[in-house]
Amino acid sequence: MQNPVHIVWFKRDLRIYDHAPLQAACLAGSVMPLYCWEPNQWAGEDYVAQHQAFIAECLVELKKELASIGLHLQISPVGIVETLQTIKSQIAIAGLYSHEETGNGASFAVDKAVSAWCKVQQINWQESAQNGVVRRLKNRNHWNKHWESRMCAPIIAKPQSALAAPFINLPSRTILQAKGSDKPKRQRGGRSEALRFFDSFLDGRAAKFRGGISSPLTAVTAGSRLSPYLAYGCLSMREVVQATRERRDWANQVPHLFPKNLNGGLIGFESRLHWHCHFMQKLESEPEMEFENLHHAHDGMRDETLAHAESQRRLAAWSKGETGWPLIDACMAMLRETGWINFRMRAMLMSTASYLYWLHWRETGLHLAREFLDYEPGIHWAQTQMQSGTTGINTLRIYSPIKQAQNQDPTGAFVRHWLPALKNVPDTWIFEPYLMPKNLQKQYGCELEKHYPAPLIDIAIAMREARAKISQARKQAGAFDETQAIIKKHASRKGMLGSARDANGQELVAKKRQKKSTLTKLKHSQQELF
Ligand SMILES: Cc1cc2nc3c(=O)[nH]c(=O)nc-3n(C[C@H](O)[C@H](O)[C@H](O)COP(=O)(O)OP(=O)(O)OC[C@H]3O[C@@H](n4cnc5c(N)ncnc54)[C@H](O)[C@@H]3O)c2cc1C
Repeated sequence: MQNPVHIVWFKRDLRIYDHAPLQAACLAGSVMPLYCWEPNQWAGEDYVAQHQAFIAECLVELKKELASIGLHLQISPVGIVETLQTIKSQIAIAGLYSHEETGNGASFAVDKAVSAWCKVQQINWQESAQNGVVRRLKNRNHWNKHWESRMCAPIIAKPQSALAAPFINLPSRTILQAKGSDKPKRQRGGRSEALRFFDSFLDGRAAKFRGGISSPLTAVTAGSRLSPYLAYGCLSMREVVQATRERRDWANQVPHLFPKNLNGGLIGFESRLHWHCHFMQKLESEPEMEFENLHHAHDGMRDETLAHAESQRRLAAWSKGETGWPLIDACMAMLRETGWINFRMRAMLMSTASYLYWLHWRETGLHLAREFLDYEPGIHWAQTQMQSGTTGINTLRIYSPIKQAQNQDPTGAFVRHWLPALKNVPDTWIFEPYLMPKNLQKQYGCELEKHYPAPLIDIAIAMREARAKISQARKQAGAFDETQAIIKKHASRKGMLGSARDANGQELVAKKRQKKSTLTKLKHSQQELF
């Protein structure tokens, strides 16, 4: 008679360090590590080939790490419920162990199906917290304390050895191939790559973090570039936070060993780690925000179904990077090749689509989800809505792609690199090549509509109209009460790292209202808002 197995279901936690489910299973008995290529995920509209290839690379390394402690990673080409059923037909299952996941609608549906299956089979499914996101959180009042206590908890050591479960024959179907093609210059998957990025950041790159992460030219090296590794759990959030704090202490003690601004950079970096969980908490607490406006006063404002030909024309121009605004088009070109762009440019891309083109955020958000290697549904949909003005609690920030280009790419080096059509355009015209006289267009090999598109709309008019529409929506009856409810449920509280401003570098609308004493209706706890 074989021992019943303890299954560790790997999801977005592709490591064996600081892995509570693995530790729990190892202590309980014979262990079967399992990863499933969930068909629901690959049939959806957000995950594509680059994600699948990145995960495959992570799995190669995970497999080796597990083998080093005597375990064999079983990889199933089918969904978890069918896989569990297959396993159960061959061996008794003593328990299922995994991390909590704040995923998209498809992964939430899978989790619900697993929960129902385990109930029927009377199998205990033990889920452990993955980061600072809190399940069944009532409101945000004590969230910062939760985050801090999770980040300070001791790191769980890699198991030294484990009792391996017998090998089980899993269904032998082929994996559902994700749509699209892989990106040639994306970051590679796996923990050793993650550590390589992290070490170089702690050793020196972080010194350029402040002041370096806004421009797409410098952010490539000034940012940590940990996002895909955090998204797929090659590193745990806790180990990143603790290593960052240790490095800050060390740099304080022996400053001459480190670059001058390292400490300041690491403080800024840690605030982003906090935001990571802060944003994910929003989707955890309100999964509908993947599909619906967080603040319903904005419903019906934009052409959600792309019923109008003009919406389709704009969506095509924006997603192909053919807007005629060089910085937008260059960012799209970089994303196509690398799967990464910095925060400021992401915000500008979204803001341009949502305000200037007045497109609904869902289709454009899906496009970016496919383009971002680090697609993390919790961060992504919360940021997407924030940059579209539909959260109702953030001040409007409408980026001008021209002004951003002047500030973040003043010499035009970035756009010339990514847009060959603009290679010979001189500085005078590089921000607005459509203003170039015809003879110069010919001279510099950049003729409008032949080599480079003309903009579809006028920025100043579009900005004015967008502001008016959003402000009108927020004046609707009932909008204020809904804003208060959103603040209570989702807004950050005083004391959050980097909370002088929100993740957009802006103050919340709430603060302005507070100044005007219009928040008197709020309870005391809510007045802690920044
Ligand atoms: C519209 C939009 C969509 C986005 N979608 C994603 C996404 O799907 N996945 C994702 O990881 N980030 C997303 N971001 C946030 C941010 O742009 C990226 O995390 C960052 O650019 C990744 O680069 P980095 O690892 O060098 O970040 P660093 O600046 O080094 O930050 C370290 C880590 O903190 C987290 N982080 C950084 N900035 C933010 C932020 N503003 N909000 C929340 N967490 C943050 C990330 O995990 C990041 O890896 C989005 C931003 C916008 C405006």
